[in-house]
Amino acid sequence: MAKRIPENAGVNTRLAHGGNDPLDYFGFVNPPVVHASTVLFPDAATLASRKQKYTYGTRGTPTTDALGKAIDEMEGSAGTIMVPSGLMAVVVPLLAFLSAGDHLLMVDSVYYPTRHFTDTMLKRLGVEVEYYDPRIGAGIAGLMRPNTKVVFTESPASNTFEVQDIPAIVTAAHEGGAVVMLDNTWATALYFRAIDFGIDIVIHAATKYPAGHSDVLLGTVSANAACWERLFETFNTLGCSAGPDDVYQVLRGLRTMGVRLERHQQSTLEITRWLEKQEGVAQVLYPALESHPDHAIWKRDFSGASGLFSVALEGDGQETAHAFLDALGIFGLGHSWGGYESLAALVSLKDRTIAKGPYGGPLVRLQIGLEDVEDLKDDLLKGLEAARRRA
Ligand SMILES: *Cc1c(COP(=O)(O)O)cnc(C)c1O
Repeated sequence: MAKRIPENAGVNTRLAHGGNDPLDYFGFVNPPVVHASTVLFPDAATLASRKQKYTYGTRGTPTTDALGKAIDEMEGSAGTIMVPSGLMAVVVPLLAFLSAGDHLLMVDSVYYPTRHFTDTMLKRLGVEVEYYDPRIGAGIAGLMRPNTKVVFTESPASNTFEVQDIPAIVTAAHEGGAVVMLDNTWATALYFRAIDFGIDIVIHAATKYPAGHSDVLLGTVSANAACWERLFETFNTLGCSAGPDDVYQVLRGLRTMGVRLERHQQSTLEITRWLEKQEGVAQVLYPALESHPDHAIWKRDFSGASGLFSVALEGDGQETAHAFLDALGIFGLGHSWGGYESLAALVSLKDRTIAKGPYGGPLVRLQIGLEDVEDLKDDLLKGLEAARRRA
């Protein structure tokens, strides 16, 4: 029996069944993990014309097709490439759409390694780089130049969670002839359907929620119809294809991403609302909170919030933040996020030029995992107590 999933099926139904048809591979529920470089051709004429579905391992396999199709169904995109890390998913589209002499508008609150790539390699390749305020909105029109080719967005902001007015930015950027890219890792396609908002290129660190278990590195880039060919061409020129086991693990992660995100969201809402009332907390930066300055934009554009936010502790100096972190027992101290387990990390804004606060004290970034909320609260109380003693 072939699967018949209705067009209007709910998101968890589509996540459970998207990407592959079991009947294409003997009825096994999951697609095969195809390890491949060489693909054979049946005769010389086909070898010469390359006219068959698969031609070489770097250009796609049934495994990458399954994940690509599942993501395109979720995003509403024309095509998706898979690359070995989230950072590579930022790098490939920037290289695809920028040349020497072009002007790039980059949001000042961007993920730090994106900034590092921009300031080093893109500048060396002759791209003119200008940072803009994440809250600029329609004001971006005033920064557009005849040679502005790309407007890069990331919303909410890395570590400080400003929400960008994407519809206003897209309108102004498109009027000026620029391509708009979005690093949508925080919201995932489930909570922000970027292509519906006019974004041309959507970037995800699939390392985070899609993989979901802190054991895989992968990036995905999805494009609308107008940008797909150029993106795919650059991907093939660079040869930066991802390994089949990692691609498979991310497809596996997608099956449960909807239910995991619901739990991350529910726990994070409860914990952030509670944290706002705790002694020693100056501010909680989470767009789903009514107190967040960009809450109205978040509510207008997003259909949910994930499990990552920052908290500003009262007091100054990193000693307060260190005392807080050192008192935590369940929260691990480390980078990345989107896995099943709670994490905490220090935030530094020293490389920014515009979106620098102040926030009333040192910032700590928290990822709320799938543990029981009461246990996480108890752990955070220990941190707050230790921080107060040092503040
Ligand atoms: C983690 C992250 C990336 C990079 O992903 P890696 O797989 O760790 O390279 C890119 N963008 C954002 C917003 C991220 O949080």
